[in-house]
This record gives sequence, structure tokens and C-alpha cells, in this order.
Amino acid sequence: MTDIAHFPVSIEFFPPKTPEGVEKLRRARLQLYALKPEFCSVTFGAGGATQEGTFNTVRDILAEGVNAASHLSCIGATRAKVSEQLAILKTMGVKRLVALRGDLPSGFGTGGEFQYASDLVAFIRFETGDDFRIEVAAYPEVHPQARSPQSDLQAFAAKINAGANAAITQYFYNADAYFRFVEEVDALGLNVAVVPGIMPIASSTQLMRFSDACGAEIPRWIRLRLQSFGDDTASIKAFGLDVVTDLCEQLRAGGAPGLHFYSMNQSVATLEVCHRLGL
Ligand code: FAD
Repeated sequence: MTDIAHFPVSIEFFPPKTPEGVEKLRRARLQLYALKPEFCSVTFGAGGATQEGTFNTVRDILAEGVNAASHLSCIGATRAKVSEQLAILKTMGVKRLVALRGDLPSGFGTGGEFQYASDLVAFIRFETGDDFRIEVAAYPEVHPQARSPQSDLQAFAAKINAGANAAITQYFYNADAYFRFVEEVDALGLNVAVVPGIMPIASSTQLMRFSDACGAEIPRWIRLRLQSFGDDTASIKAFGLDVVTDLCEQLRAGGAPGLHFYSMNQSVATLEVCHRLGL
């Protein structure tokens, strides 16, 4: 097992929409750098909606001397557009991408030239060879649009076979789902690191809203406990820290190759969990 002090951590941000948000995120990042993250990644809006904000935030992270990964989503995009984005990222000195399909808001036709994230991974490899390390998304609790768990696993394998190097999971609070998924990936001989995505619990309503949208299951006992705290944010945070720290401990003890924190542009919860883990 990896020595705890050297257990790899990565941290995800989203691009802020206002100058105040940019400043707030800068302060959060500087605090989170105390964890010596292996890299920090920045999400990318489907349809390229946040492209400028994503690239600006990635530039800021690189300028702060930290490895940065840009997310890149392909839904609704043309090959020419993605090619242009890859050229910009290369010029910026980005070496790492998180390649995704993305989700368009309902009512939008895709109108794009990519159907699945595996098409994007293949295109990035075709266009840029080995210039980028590519991570892809994984779903231990099964992607909400998957025809079946088996077809979702095949879709995951297709992304790896198209040239992805590693994966980051959707967040979950049930460690067994992760361990089972990793077993299935290993049984296919895929030989890739599957890093668990960790969502610290800071607000009950925010968590419920996100989880309903992305298909992450909040176990009944966690949901009920959170509901029972009502507006008592101190109790929600204390409970959330206990639950997430326990989960991370189980994951690390079970052989997870690292932890990827969905920071939600906040530093406190991620720092506290890592502090409790001794990271
Ligand atoms: P895919 O791997 O293409 O899978 C999408 C669906 O299609 C799945 O149900 C899969 O089973 C199915 N499928 C794939 N291939 C096939 C096939 N050949 N035949 C049949 N079915 C198939 N979204 C953003 O917009 N921006 C972000 O920055 C972003 N970052 C993320 C980071 C992480 C770590 C994770 C886990 C998710 C992120 N997302 C982001 C959300 C993601 O875009 C959505 O979950 C999206 O719905 C699926 O993207 P994907 O890359 O997993 O797609």
C-alpha cells in the first residue's frame, strides 16, 4: 500500500462566472495546494459553453506552478472545433486532459460529429498522438443512460481501448460499488488506474440536486440523516466529514490508486478530510 504521505490526490474545479468567483477560487486553490495535488482539473461546459473560463482557469493553475488538466467534452462539437481546442491547449502547455462526452440541456439536438467519449479519445490520439495523458469518466454505480451495467462496462473498455490512460469515477458513497467495478475492469484485462471521485458533503440540498442529475446514489441512511438535520449546517458538515473520511479510508485500505476531490471550488471540506486522513 502507498505510504499515506505520498498518496496521490487530485482536485477538480469549475470555471467561475464572475470576477469575485475568480478571486474566491484563487484563494481556495492556494489553500488546497498545501495538499500537493498531483494535478488540478477544470470542468468544461457541454457544447463548449465554458471554454474561455475553463482555459483561463487552467492557465492560472499552470502559472501557479501546478499541473493542470483541462476537461474537454465533445457532445455537439465538430472535429474542426475540437482540433482547434487541442491546438490551444497544446500551446498553453497542457499535458493532461479529462475527455468526456458531456450532457446537453434537454431540447438541444446534438448536431455534433461525436457520439461517445470513446470517439473523442480516438480523435485526440489521432490528432495529437501521445502529447496528452487522457483520463476518462467511470461509473461504479452505472451511468444513468446506460442500456445495462454490462454495456456501460463495454463503453468504459472502449474508452480505454481508444487510448485513455486512466479513469476518474463519478462520486459515490458505497465503496463496494467501486471495488466491484475495479474487479470487473481488471477481469477485462484493462490494466488502468481507476481513481475514485470524492464529493465532500457540505450542503444537503446541493448534494441531493447534483446526485439526482448525475445518477449518483445517496444511500438511504445518509439521505435520512441529512434530512433530519434540517437547516443545522454545522451538524450536516460534521456528519459529512465523518462519512466522507470513512469512505476515503475504506478506499485507500482497499487499494484505490489515489483520490480525486470534487472541490466545488471550496477548500474547507477537502482540506479537513485530507487532514483527517493524514495526507
Ligand atoms: P460516454 O463514455 O460516452 O458514455 C455516455 C453513455 O453512453 C453511457 O450511458 C454509456 O454506457 C453509453 N455508451 C458509450 N458508448 C456506447 C456505445 N458504443 N454503445 C452504446 N452505448 C454507449 N460533463 C461535462 O459536461 N463537463 C465536464 O467537465 C465533466 N467532467 C466530468 C468528470 C468526471 C470525472 C465525471 C465522472 C463526469 C464528468 N462530466 C462532465 C459528466 C459527463 O459528461 C456525463 O456523465 C455524461 O453523461 C457522460 O459522459 P462520458 O464521458 O462518461 O460519456
